[in-house]
Amino acid sequence: MPEADLVRLTELLRHADRIRSVIGLLGWDEQVNLPPASAPRRAEQLSTLAALAHEAGTAPEIGALLGRLEAEGERLEPDARVIVRHARRDFDRATRLPAAFVARRAALDSEAYHAWKEARERADFAAFAPFLERQVAMAREEAAYLGLGDRPYDHLLDRNDPGMTEAVVAALFDELASGLVPLVRRIVAAAPPRRRAAMRGFPVAAQDAFLRRVVARLGFDFSRGRIDVAVHPFCSGDAADTRMTTRFDEDRPLEALFGAIHETGHGLYEQGLPVDRLGTALGEAVGMAVHESQSRLWENQVGRGRAFWAFFESEFRAAFPGRLDGLSSDELYREINDVRPGPIRVEADEVTYNLHVLLRFTIERRLFAGGLAVADLPAAWNELSRELLGIDPASDAEGVLQDVHWSGGAFGYFPSYCVGNMIAAQLWQAALAALPGLEEDFTRGRFGRLLGWLRETIHRHGRRFSTMELVREVTGGELSPAPLLRHLEERYAPLYLPATR
Ligand code: ZN
Repeated sequence: MPEADLVRLTELLRHADRIRSVIGLLGWDEQVNLPPASAPRRAEQLSTLAALAHEAGTAPEIGALLGRLEAEGERLEPDARVIVRHARRDFDRATRLPAAFVARRAALDSEAYHAWKEARERADFAAFAPFLERQVAMAREEAAYLGLGDRPYDHLLDRNDPGMTEAVVAALFDELASGLVPLVRRIVAAAPPRRRAAMRGFPVAAQDAFLRRVVARLGFDFSRGRIDVAVHPFCSGDAADTRMTTRFDEDRPLEALFGAIHETGHGLYEQGLPVDRLGTALGEAVGMAVHESQSRLWENQVGRGRAFWAFFESEFRAAFPGRLDGLSSDELYREINDVRPGPIRVEADEVTYNLHVLLRFTIERRLFAGGLAVADLPAAWNELSRELLGIDPASDAEGVLQDVHWSGGAFGYFPSYCVGNMIAAQLWQAALAALPGLEEDFTRGRFGRLLGWLRETIHRHGRRFSTMELVREVTGGELSPAPLLRHLEERYAPLYLPATR
């Protein structure tokens, strides 16, 4: 009976997913709450749970059920075919990874995270290098288990975005760079040297209260989600329980706000996935690039736009009495859209942000092609930083050690951010065409029509479509850097290059 087989398969997939969700929750707790001396205990807990999740995901019964369901072929309902297709992919990948390898990797992730955190505080790359060596070796080992030992970087990209390859990403990035690098040069050359508006002494409690109002108005459901504080902003969890973080600095109120709006984009996507399909491909995100497209769209196309600020500006000023008195509306808008090459990716404006990703993509390709040793990473990083951004990092803390990703073995992840930016710009064009008067809504504090459209065209489908199929389905065109370049030109040329208007 295919119906009974599908019910049983779904039960087993949900069982494995619940264990993974606990791992996610402990990972969240590790970054939000864990006392430092408790880290070794957490590493053991995560290692134990990783082994359990692996066992649940590789149960021989899943293999038997998949075999029978696949034999049904086209007789299966379309939804069932989606579930079976993805369950097969996940099952094959999981069964090829030995349980001991999975447990060893989970333990390393936790140890390496703490090593990275300390190394970054002390700007001491040498202290982190041995952990990074082990992560690179494990990533290669994983690729080999999955039959991609000769193309480890393709494997790492595909792991985050099924179907992505180094060649596809390289072609997209080359085209993007050919438009972006000249745009940044024009902006840097044309912009008169200008000090940033001083933003000092924005009390954290008031920042927190304001961003919670923004996050709620964008549509985030706090009855099944939270936002807390962590060193590195992130969003984890699922449709039933979504966990976001941001970080506060009294002198950088926009950083916490845009960090929160970004994570809200991720959170809204998670909350828009069908909760009754959790644990199956229909309740999961397509991949990291589509995930990033959601965060980027809310952060940049929406949150940094004039219409958003037409509504929120007065509330923002009222939240910090006296702090913004010296700043006109236009100056505030300019501050929000300040383009300024800097060393830190998560603090970058939406124009130069993409250069930070190109830097990491170049380094990761070389690292996995064998042309770059871990020990030589800081020098390679600093050289590329000078070349692309015109920046000499003051130390490895604001260079090669700045991001958490590599400590968790998350290679091949950074490109998703930039591909996500491209998708966001392409979706934004489609949304503006599909929803007349959309920005008019924003000026009244209404964001529901955009969220509804994203729910309808993207969120509710889970993994029904691949990244490329989804872009084609929703926008009617192939994924391209052109809409992103157009968006950046349209927003930033009037601000920085008035002569070219
Ligand atoms: Zn993100």
